[in-house]
Amino acid sequence: MGKIIFWLIVFFVALLVLRLVNVANSRSARGEAPRRAKTKDTAMTRCVNCGVYLPRADAVDGPRGPLCGDAKCLPGQTRKRS
Ligand SMILES: [Zn+2]
Repeated sequence: MGKIIFWLIVFFVALLVLRLVNVANSRSARGEAPRRAKTKDTAMTRCVNCGVYLPRADAVDGPRGPLCGDAKCLPGQTRKRS
């Protein structure tokens, strides 16, 4: 009986080790590139007109600074509001 329990423990420890190795491999395989892309994508900037925060990639360069790209914030569209 003791031998069966011993081999069961060996079996589950082997499964646990295989699972840990598998998780570590998959984490290192996709760990580096997405993290770099994420920090680039999540760089935030602020619209100088309405103050909304948006990703730098979506910002429009205006004369006073980044704009959110909304119709009321774009330079040529300010006349329509008044
Ligand atoms: Zn804006």
